[in-house]
Order: sequence, then C-alpha cells, then structure tokens
Amino acid sequence: MKLYNTLTRQIDVVEPIQPPRVGLYACGLTVYDFTHLGHLRKYTMDDVLIRTLRRAGYQVTFVQNVTDVGHLTSDSDTGEDKLEKGARKYGKTAWDVAKEFEEYFWRSMDAMGNVRPDVSCRATEHIPEQLEMVKTLEAKGFAYVIDDDGVYFDTSKLDDYGKLALIDIEQLREGARVERVAGKRNPTDFALWKFERPGENRAMAWPSPWAERSFPGWHIECSAMSMKYLGEQFEIHTGGIDHINVHHTNEIAQAEAATGKKPFVKYWVHHNFLRVDGEKMSKSLGNFFTIDDIEKRGLSPRALRLLFLTTHYRSEMNFTWGNLEGMQKTWERLIRQVVQLKAETGRTTLSEEKLDQLNEYRQRFVTAMENDLDTPTAVAVMWEMLKSNIPSPDKYDLLIELDELMGLGLRQADSYLAEIEAKHHAQSVRVEELSAELQQVVQDRQTARANQDWAAADAARDTLLAAGYTIKDTPQGPVLTKTSI
Ligand code: AMP
Ligand code: ZN
Repeated sequence: MKLYNTLTRQIDVVEPIQPPRVGLYACGLTVYDFTHLGHLRKYTMDDVLIRTLRRAGYQVTFVQNVTDVGHLTSDSDTGEDKLEKGARKYGKTAWDVAKEFEEYFWRSMDAMGNVRPDVSCRATEHIPEQLEMVKTLEAKGFAYVIDDDGVYFDTSKLDDYGKLALIDIEQLREGARVERVAGKRNPTDFALWKFERPGENRAMAWPSPWAERSFPGWHIECSAMSMKYLGEQFEIHTGGIDHINVHHTNEIAQAEAATGKKPFVKYWVHHNFLRVDGEKMSKSLGNFFTIDDIEKRGLSPRALRLLFLTTHYRSEMNFTWGNLEGMQKTWERLIRQVVQLKAETGRTTLSEEKLDQLNEYRQRFVTAMENDLDTPTAVAVMWEMLKSNIPSPDKYDLLIELDELMGLGLRQADSYLAEIEAKHHAQSVRVEELSAELQQVVQDRQTARANQDWAAADAARDTLLAAGYTIKDTPQGPVLTKTSI
C-alpha cells in the first residue's frame, strides 16, 4: 500500500515497524454538535483506507478517540471549551451533550457502513494518562505554568518543532499571526493543561498538581491515548487538513519530547474538506447537513458513500443536493443490476480469456486502491467490469469481492432494492389525487403525445416538475412520483 505522507511530502510505501502489524489512529469527533457530511466524508475515507490495508495483508489495529473535553473554539488556546459551548447552546450539561452527540456519531457511521474502531477511547476516561504525560513533559523541562491559565509546552525546546507543517518559526516569532495568550514564551507554545477560570463553573473539571479544578488541552489527549493503545511509535495517523498546522504538529511535539525524540508516527494522512458553496462544511459556520437530512430527502447514505468514492480524498469536494440526487439514480441502477446478476444462474467454467479478463479487472481495481487510495479510478474500473461480457455469476462474485474495499454493502442488494421499491411506492401519486389544474396538465400532455406534439408534451412535463411531480409513462398509463424536496 502506498500513501501520501504529509511528513515526507511524497507518496511512501507503507512499511510497518513490526510487519504485518499496523497501528492506525484517527482523530475522532468533537462531540459538541451534530455529525455532518464533512465528517462523514473524512471517516468514510478512513474506513476505505482500513479496508484496503486489511485486504493488502496488514494487521490493522484501528484506534479512534472521542473528544469530549478540552477542544477550545480557538486554536490559540484563548477560546472556550467547545463542549461548554454546546452545553449552553442546547441547555444541557457538557456530559449530556457529549453522550448524545457521540451516539449520533455512531448512528451516522453505521448508516454509512463504516467499520467500528478496535478501540474507541474518550478523553474524559483517560485523565490519568494525560496527566502523567504532562508531568513527564514538565519533569523533562518542556513545560511551564502561566498563572491562572494553564500549563504550556515550550516549543523552543524542540529543534524540529513544526516539521510536519513546515512552519516558518522565525516568521511566527516575529509576527503575531497567532493570537497571544499573555505569558506565552513563544507564539507557537500551546496549552497542555488548562485551569478553570474564576466563575467559569465548568461541568467537567479534575484536580491536578497545578490547580484543584482543571482539564486537559486538546492535543494531549491524542498523544496520550494513541501511545497507550499503539505504543510510543506507530504507523498511520489520520485527520483533516485543518489539523496539520496546530493539532498534529503539537501531538508530534508532545510525543517526541516525552519519548526522547523517538519518531512518533511514520505516515501522516490528511483528508481534504467537503465544502458547501465554496466554504468548509462546519459546525461553527452552521452550513452543515446531517445523515437525517439525507434520509428525509429519500436519499440513501450508500449513494452518498458512492459519491464520496468518486472524489480522491486529497481533493476538495463541493457538496450539492443535485450531485447527490444524480448519484442516487446511479445507486438505484447499480442495485437493480446487482440483484439481477445475483439471480442469474448457470455457472460454467470460465474460458482462459475470460479468466484473464476477470483477473485484470481485479488487478486494476486493487492497484488503484493501493495507490494512495485512488477511489475514482477504482470505481471507474468497477463500472467497466459491470459493462463487460464476463458471465454474470463471476461478475457478481468479483463485484462482491471488490466491495470489501468500497464498503457499499452490495451483498445486501436485495434489502436495498426492497427499500428503494418501498420508497418509490410511497412516493407515487394517482392522477385523481392531483389538483384539478394539474389533472388537466396531465390530460393535455396525453393529448400532446397522441398528436406527437413533443414540445407541448415537454412543456406539460416541466409544469408538473415545477409543481413537485415527475411523470413516467407505463403500459398502465402515466405514473406520477413526488420529487424529493
Ligand atoms: P472536529 O470534530 O471538528 O474535530 O472534526 C473531526 C474530523 O472531521 C477532523 O479530522 C476534521 O478535520 C474533519 N472535518 C471537519 N469538517 C470537515 C469537512 N467539511 N470536510 C472534511 N473533513 C472535515
Ligand atoms: Zn487528534
């Protein structure tokens, strides 16, 4: 398997420290609000990566955290804890907000068909591990206390701080690109542990050697938990591109300072954003859609998965309902085809030529996936294979095999088809149920068609469409379907 590594800025072959074992840590969700399609893209592509690694023979231990404390609204340690913000927004305690949005996250992951992590770890359940790490950093001279604020990491003590992001430290030192916390020795220094402010009255606070009521910083949770479950050095770490400059840079600093500069992670994988109207889909901008929005529109989460697969994870992707609706149609066609393939019997021994053809499709598909997860190429190979004249039973078997990597769940095509049929049935409308005006439009269209006046027939169809109905002609007469909103 080859992956683009942000650390080396090139595509590297994944070479485990102890083959065939691979430790993979994915930065988890901050559970202060709904999981949105941007998150779904990131975690779905992580899932595709894990499936591909496993199929390539790596023994993956997949660890993913749940950020339920400490992630501040500003990357410069000045904002408030996002969980406390969520608590205010929803009128609940930070604990309840964390619980509810974590549940929503798992529900969203299940709907997408994502495999659960081998270890799922909450920051609030690893306070001793995080405290221990901060104490180690303090003992080794990497930490200092700012009164009434927190314990900070002194980035000037590490000669290669910022290597992941190629941060220009000199420029940062001179300028004030990062909002300053009073008392920070260097602009890039960051909070390891924070103290409750007077009158703050947080729901989540723990005693520490520095303050009676305090809480971990965001970066320390990922270093402490990944090292607990995967060791001081491991192979793959994933996150969105927004994590490169601060979060992951600081994870590396903490881990390598604590272990005496043992290289922390070999391969850093970063996902590009899902955007809406050119802006990153995000909780803070409020421009997000959820899995419920998808289902409310009668669209399938697996159609969304197929849509994600058609864009490379390192490319930006712009979300529109039009694109997803188009993909829904493709998805429904795919499901019908799979059900049909499955029903066709009469397996015979493949000719040598057909066997070669089959192996070539498999080879091209897997090679694309193992080449930095080139899902657009892999999906194109799948369509090509489906169009080929390979006998149906073998085509079906290969498709199911390749789907182990895509995760579309095509093995359950029968139940998807039942859902699709039920949805269409529920959406179909009898002509008599329409308003008198619309019944007239249907009538006019029938007359126009009988007279082969296609322009008038098209115009009538457009009028129906504008009123929210699509019309299809069947031997039993026209059938109307309510279009999704
Ligand atoms: P957060 O809860 O903000 O820490 O985000 C969880 C993960 O989702 C991080 O790895 C983010 O980089 C990623 N993420 C957030 N918004 C988007 C987006 N619009 N597109 C892709 N990934 C995103
Ligand atoms: Zn993280």
